[in-house]
Amino acid sequence: MTFLTNPYDHDKLHEECGIFGVYGHPESAALTALGLHALQHRGQEAAGIVTYQDGQFFSHRAAGHVGDNFSEESVIALLPGSSAIGHNRYSTTGDTVVRNIQPLFADFASGGFAIAHNGNLTNAVALRRELVQRGCLFQSTTDTEVIIHLIATSTFDSVVDRAVAALQMVEGAYSLVALHNDTLIGVRDPYGVRPLVLGRFENAWVLASETCALDIIGAECVRDIEPGEIVLINESGVQSMHPFPKRPHKLCVFEYVYFARPDSTIDGRNVYDSRKKIGYELADESGIPADVVIPVPDSGVPAALGYAEKAGIPYELGIIRNHYVGRTFIEPTDRIRHLGVKLKHNVNRDVIEGQRVILVDDSIVRGTTSVKIVEMIRSAGAVEVHMRIASPPTTHSCFYGVDTPTRDQLLAAQHNVEQMARIIGVDSLAFLTMDGLYRAMGLNGRISDSPQYCDACFSGEYPITPTDQSGDQPSPQLSFLTQLT
Ligand code: SF4
Repeated sequence: MTFLTNPYDHDKLHEECGIFGVYGHPESAALTALGLHALQHRGQEAAGIVTYQDGQFFSHRAAGHVGDNFSEESVIALLPGSSAIGHNRYSTTGDTVVRNIQPLFADFASGGFAIAHNGNLTNAVALRRELVQRGCLFQSTTDTEVIIHLIATSTFDSVVDRAVAALQMVEGAYSLVALHNDTLIGVRDPYGVRPLVLGRFENAWVLASETCALDIIGAECVRDIEPGEIVLINESGVQSMHPFPKRPHKLCVFEYVYFARPDSTIDGRNVYDSRKKIGYELADESGIPADVVIPVPDSGVPAALGYAEKAGIPYELGIIRNHYVGRTFIEPTDRIRHLGVKLKHNVNRDVIEGQRVILVDDSIVRGTTSVKIVEMIRSAGAVEVHMRIASPPTTHSCFYGVDTPTRDQLLAAQHNVEQMARIIGVDSLAFLTMDGLYRAMGLNGRISDSPQYCDACFSGEYPITPTDQSGDQPSPQLSFLTQLT
């Protein structure tokens, strides 16, 4: 029997990771497990927690969901201490092996150092090659380990100075949580591509990728970590530094379109509200007479609600999602492969039959799922199917921590809108314009020579040079593999 990653999840972009950290609470591991559980949407491949107590670090890292690995009291009991960091992984760099599961850990002369990373370094392969030539011995194929070696080989005295020097050498997107002895460290890259938020729980401090992870433990949101900011949290409180040259803020706009949980607030902007406003813009830009607005669940729901409200067309749940389809299950044989998408989605025939349907989804990646969903809607008796997409066409790959296919597999990179409509089988297809997306973010539109967000997967304008993509940079390989089971 062969198991594989859910093939019907392949038609979405995937956020790479979620991170969480606690300083100053006796139940730091349990709080971190809860925080990671709330961030499960940011990575389902593996999870890990490292804690610190009295000069010693404790670690548990395993493949699978947080609930599979950290729900037992006996596991949490193995992670004592009042400081902890944790990580959910969905790998885009590094193979699926035990040694790549974060947090990564190293012993420095000044003590232990654990680190967890959301994002992707765009010059990691080049840096790694130099480090290997200098004699560094890598234990994983992750880009994150490059940061550890840069810190270890720095000539500065304190770990903080070493970390600053290391981060000045790396390029790309990184939100980090780290533990150096009893100090919790949080970092957001100078462009602020990935989110990171500071919270307060009782007398403890918390760092998390999204505010939904603060909510689950009842922590209060204090503020976003600023782009280019480093926070050091220990018994002296929270110390903030801005050691990097100032860069334009380029938060990933796709966090609002799809990645982040709708109940999170990022950089002061609520995700659900943003998605509803995207729906308003979409209705304004590409409205069409219809009888019913139907979301592709779950990610299309808020935009469809906004669309229906603005267009004055009834909103119905015409597609029901099966929430119990895991990310892994039995590979279907060719005979039943065509049933595929029904494992995850089924139509609610009563609200579709005889109707002119507007179908709202967040994005189109390969288009394979869209084809199947439209087939289902038509076979349920829809008389017209119009697809509205709550983002501009995804035409470029992401190099900042999101798993994207190469351009030859991105439907919008290969075809114009008319051709895509034919391939997907809809009567009409329209995408949100770039200006519409920015208007939904509360702006007047996109400033073309310096966009207010990273939107490279729609525009191809990369705010940070993807150095490893240019030239011949072979990906690192491990010669000794301990495969996940
Ligand atoms: Fe986000 Fe797209 Fe930029 Fe990647 S390229 S960080 S997915 S906006």
